[in-house]
Amino acid sequence: ESFDAMGLQENLLRGIYAYGFEKPSAIQQRGIVPFCNGLDVIQQAQSGTGKTATFCSGVLQQLDITLVQCQALVLAPTRELAQQIEKVMRALGDYLGVKVHTCVGGTSVVEDQRILQAGVHVVVGTPGRVFDMLRRQSLRSDCIKMFVLDEADEMLSRATMPPEALEITKKFMSKPVRILV
Ligand code: AMP
Repeated sequence: ESFDAMGLQENLLRGIYAYGFEKPSAIQQRGIVPFCNGLDVIQQAQSGTGKTATFCSGVLQQLDITLVQCQALVLAPTRELAQQIEKVMRALGDYLGVKVHTCVGGTSVVEDQRILQAGVHVVVGTPGRVFDMLRRQSLRSDCIKMFVLDEADEMLSRATMPPEALEITKKFMSKPVRILV
């Protein structure tokens, strides 16, 4: 199995290869295609197995680049992780012209608002700042069609996410594809 056989857009493939990936990892071989087909996916794997590039490829493949509105929201438990995800999203999406912004605490709210209002395709962030941007309506949810909860177990066990969130997540997913590596 190769990245070429996954039916990905030419410009996404270019980004993947330019980033230095040659062959998809086990989780990528199983996860990218279902994600690109719009299925709900739960990936259970250690870090270092290539989960980030799996959901980034899935998100990038499904974006309508001509529509400069937030279409994908990725939540991560820490600022560092959010920034790491942003880096991968930008790199893989380099030839697509994707606009990615990271909303995390400890940065300027006004600057976040300015960038979001200017228009982005993908927002990556931590719950606090993302909710703040939603509350201020600087981030509009109207066009969001993809939602990624990275390290969901960690996110859902934190105080910022009540236990009810787990139930809500279950309700949002329909017949999720579960991938264990
Ligand atoms: P992750 O599990 O998403 O944290 O990724 C772990 C590491 O594996 C990162 O440093 C990636 O750059 C790298 N990686 C992910 N997918 C591949 C691949 N297909 N080929 C080579 N390296 C990869």
